[in-house]
Amino acid sequence: MGIDYNKTMNTFITSLDQEVSNQMVVTWDIGKRCNFDCVYCDPLTHDNTSPHASLETLSNTTDFIKEYLDIIFKYKTNNEDFSISLTGGEPTTNPNFPELTKYLKEKFGKRHVSVTSNGSFGKNAFDAIVDNLKNITVSYHCDAGPKIKEKVIQNILDLNEATKVRVNLMFHFKDEYFRECIRLTKFFEDNKIRYTPRVVNHKPYTKQQTNWFKDYWAEKAKAKLLIDKTKVHQIGRESIKVNKEKERLKTGNPTEEHKHIVKGRHCCASLPLLFENKETDTWEKGTYCTDTNFKNWFCSVNWFFLHIEQQTNKVFHHQTCQANWNNTRGPIGTLSESHLIIDRLKKQVSGDTVPVLQCTIDTCKCGMCTPKSQSIDTFNTIIKKHVKDLKFKNVS
Ligand code: SF4
Ligand code: SF4
Repeated sequence: MGIDYNKTMNTFITSLDQEVSNQMVVTWDIGKRCNFDCVYCDPLTHDNTSPHASLETLSNTTDFIKEYLDIIFKYKTNNEDFSISLTGGEPTTNPNFPELTKYLKEKFGKRHVSVTSNGSFGKNAFDAIVDNLKNITVSYHCDAGPKIKEKVIQNILDLNEATKVRVNLMFHFKDEYFRECIRLTKFFEDNKIRYTPRVVNHKPYTKQQTNWFKDYWAEKAKAKLLIDKTKVHQIGRESIKVNKEKERLKTGNPTEEHKHIVKGRHCCASLPLLFENKETDTWEKGTYCTDTNFKNWFCSVNWFFLHIEQQTNKVFHHQTCQANWNNTRGPIGTLSESHLIIDRLKKQVSGDTVPVLQCTIDTCKCGMCTPKSQSIDTFNTIIKKHVKDLKFKNVS
């Protein structure tokens, strides 16, 4: 029987859980300052004039993260599973970056902290990354001048010897840059450097450029698809057969089924998920959810994410969804008054029941994998696997 695509997740999938992971992810934008000026980068994200955060300020934020996580980890069932990712702007332009990494290592240990950078840094930052951080993601941007790009490539090669590096190869739509990126895919493959070609969102790629991406991903997907993905049970996708996928890869055209399923998505890390299916009254495994609308669901995003914006002084549960208490969105507080965030969290977990966030938006992006449910009772059941000794209540 074919799938009734009018039945969205909210009519037959009523809860979503992570199958194995219980990771707490902290993202920390340490400042807007950047030495590049990529044409596709928002001026709200970068500039070349913002003051650098002082070491004292950065240390205070580190202490706040530690205090916050210590409270969260009293209740998480796996308090070893967490990551802190430094971003910007360009984090390494801050002259306090090496000292900051040292302090972070002291507080959290080397294996929990990583950085995303444009890769143009000098020796001090290089040594700090190798000595103090778990790994680095270098985003390669074609907009920089030739001398700087030479430096970036050399850093990537050296990092590949000294630590774990992955490259985000940002495919610029300008023809000469696009061709530069294609040449680099070969260079990275020859040098055994892990890389991912990235599309710059909402930019005008030509048909030929788009086809290059299609071919690239089709090649990459073929092997994977024919081994694993076809075996993964994905709710709502039962009738999408391998031959349909093959056909799509060959022609580049979405099949009728694919036209419908674009409403859904995988979790960013393709984590295995569990879905409660109301129709069959069962929990089923999958990696793909047929919809991203969880509006009004009870969501545990605050037990899995924390986002900090150093330059604006703001703290969020999650960078993009910005879920907040009382069915609102926005910052949960400020760094300069971070004691208020800590006080509220302590108060919440010390009560007989703990408040739970409710989703207020109709498109969930990178918070997909956080356990969530339409029912507070089911939420309490599934959250036990991740958060112990607390009972959650509906506060709306
Ligand atoms: S390097 Fe990163 S932060 Fe700097 S301008 Fe480019 S995209 Fe923006
Ligand atoms: S958008 Fe945020 S609050 Fe809504 S379901 Fe996703 S992670 Fe949860």
